[in-house]
Amino acid sequence: MTTQSSDPILQLKVVETEALICTKCDLAEGRTQVVFGAGNPQADVLFVGEAPGQREDEQGVPFVGPSGRLLEELLAEIDLTRDAVYITNVVKCRPPGNRDPRPDEIDACKAYLRTQLELIDPAVVVTLGNFSTKLVLRTEVGITKLRGMAYEWWGRYLVPTFHPAAALRGRGQVLEDMRYDFSLVRDVLDGNLATDTGIEEETPPPQPADDPQQLGLFGQ
Ligand code: URA
Ligand code: SF4
Repeated sequence: MTTQSSDPILQLKVVETEALICTKCDLAEGRTQVVFGAGNPQADVLFVGEAPGQREDEQGVPFVGPSGRLLEELLAEIDLTRDAVYITNVVKCRPPGNRDPRPDEIDACKAYLRTQLELIDPAVVVTLGNFSTKLVLRTEVGITKLRGMAYEWWGRYLVPTFHPAAALRGRGQVLEDMRYDFSLVRDVLDGNLATDTGIEEETPPPQPADDPQQLGLFGQ
């Protein structure tokens, strides 16, 4: 191994450079550019959205549209900025017409997310909405049931919450629930979690494995 490849920040850059020309799935055809991720490569918190939308596709940066503004508001409420965290998506290229990413596309792209997780090594992963939560937790349980809690997950915490777009559509209660979930992130960062919420160890089963690589963090 070279000095360069043992530095996680540089390694992340190398992977990003590879991803920017990726053609591993059909989404490559319709995209303007790959939206790999943005923020602090050593962040304590990693946010995982669904897929780039139109603005993101144009700018090459995740969450720059209306959902991104709401995300920034919620971050500010727990004293974080988008530069302090790292933000990415399940798939790195915009699905045509903003359709849902297909299982084969998610499958093709998930190695990038796993690498980001390994190299950034955050204390907390926040999944935004059903797509990222299902991928990361390997569950069919919906976000409404799963949210509201921080889960111990592979030596870190996972906080599943709604996608900001859901709050923009519904506002009201969805936004309040997201606020609560973001407060859990703050609690984890401050080391206050156990006393505040108690972790429910029994749900769901993000089974520890002997070999995380083999198990495939994101399903299989
Ligand atoms: N919605 C997402 O899931 N990701 C983005 O980057 C923007 C909107
Ligand atoms: Fe590659 Fe992911 Fe883009 Fe598909 S979505 S082309 S796998 S970067």
